[in-house]
Amino acid sequence: MKQFKHKFWTITTFRISLLSLVMVFTQSVFAGDLKIGSAAVKITPPLGTPLAGYYSDRGAVGVHDELYAKAIVIEKDGSKIALVSCDLISVTTDIVTKVRNIVGKTVGISPDNVMVSATHSHTGPVIPKKNDRTIITGKTAEVHKKYISDLPTLIAESVKLANSALVPARASIAIGREESISFNRRFFMTDGTVGWNPGKLNPKIIKPAGPIDPEVFVFYAETQESKPISTYVNFAVHLDNVGGSEISADMPFTLSTILGKIKGNDMVTLYAQGCCGNINHINVKNKEPQKGNNEAQRIGTVLSGEVIKVYTRLQPVEIATISTKREIVKLPLPEVKPDELLIARDIISRDGKADAPKFLELVNAYKVLDVLDRKGEPLDAEVQVIALGDQCAIVGLPGEIFTELGMYIKSRSPYTNTMVIELANGSIGYVPDRKAYAEGNYEPVSARCGAGSGEILAEKAVQLLYELKMK
Ligand SMILES: [Zn+2]
Repeated sequence: MKQFKHKFWTITTFRISLLSLVMVFTQSVFAGDLKIGSAAVKITPPLGTPLAGYYSDRGAVGVHDELYAKAIVIEKDGSKIALVSCDLISVTTDIVTKVRNIVGKTVGISPDNVMVSATHSHTGPVIPKKNDRTIITGKTAEVHKKYISDLPTLIAESVKLANSALVPARASIAIGREESISFNRRFFMTDGTVGWNPGKLNPKIIKPAGPIDPEVFVFYAETQESKPISTYVNFAVHLDNVGGSEISADMPFTLSTILGKIKGNDMVTLYAQGCCGNINHINVKNKEPQKGNNEAQRIGTVLSGEVIKVYTRLQPVEIATISTKREIVKLPLPEVKPDELLIARDIISRDGKADAPKFLELVNAYKVLDVLDRKGEPLDAEVQVIALGDQCAIVGLPGEIFTELGMYIKSRSPYTNTMVIELANGSIGYVPDRKAYAEGNYEPVSARCGAGSGEILAEKAVQLLYELKMK
């Protein structure tokens, strides 16, 4: 891997030198120019590293495709922002703080202006959280630990390289629609309950209990000579298409490959996950199995098709100023009584045995332990907003956010074009909307934040967007 990484950096450095030469000889660069640079750094973990995404242990046995941290740096009048997307299940606040510190020291971009998000690939490494109960043992434990401790440096490296690649640029945006690859995974059922992934062709399904967000937001950057720099795609679909024990970025791998064929492999394609806490790729209306690399490829191909259509109607976006705001909000904890502790411990101790608990009982038991550990201390959650000029805004929220909440922010935003990115700058787990808590089932049972938390985050995002707009 090291050798490969080295090769990658060498190629990138060569490209950067070439770009610098082109800049010196063919352009006069003004301080006020919009500049954009983009880069990718490989973050594939060593084989054997435990893979994330399920309630069971599995070590990586191979690499289907490499994982990357990809960055885009945008500069206007000396102020810079960095948007980073990582092929990971999530990023912790600890990782993000370290990345922001390194980027602050080495590139001079303020922590307020750095957004680090995760695509939510289920075929990447386990990212241990502070109170993680997954105890990783055996000979891969040390390798995994080292990988996690190296990760902030690698992620920050993508920003450094993107910063070195800054060139006078043009930005454009457009929003497409894709309705065939994402599905709300909660359903009203004939028995009056709300089902979660109730199974294909389940006759008890009445209809989905919520919407999907079909918007395909495309931010495209190219040099003043029309050479592609970067495509930043924001869409909402849970990335659990591949499964198995091979490392893969999942559907964004296909997205990058196809867009690279259209625009050239020098272009960096970033996939920023939209609010998909209750959205996945499973179509219950057919019986076709939907798992594996072919399925990821199919979904990535459909999404790429829409992005290619969007390329034909991109509108230039004027970025006269770049402004950002971020705020930590306190979120209520779910209601858990102290006497639930012993019951939860008993449930967890029976996992995998003859009298194994039901899935939701186990999910609830882990939630109970985490919530009681906090001793009533509310959850901290960062809301970050970035405005690129007065037409385009980006919101980052730290969890698996219900799609209704993302759509609400978009509908209330004072900006014509607003992207909402989940799993940004940390993760507090599922963030359902208030109605889902009353309906029950997986996400609200699992949520480490209490009812109303999603609405608090959404209102804060809208408030911060207005504050930026009024500046
Ligand atoms: Zn997931």
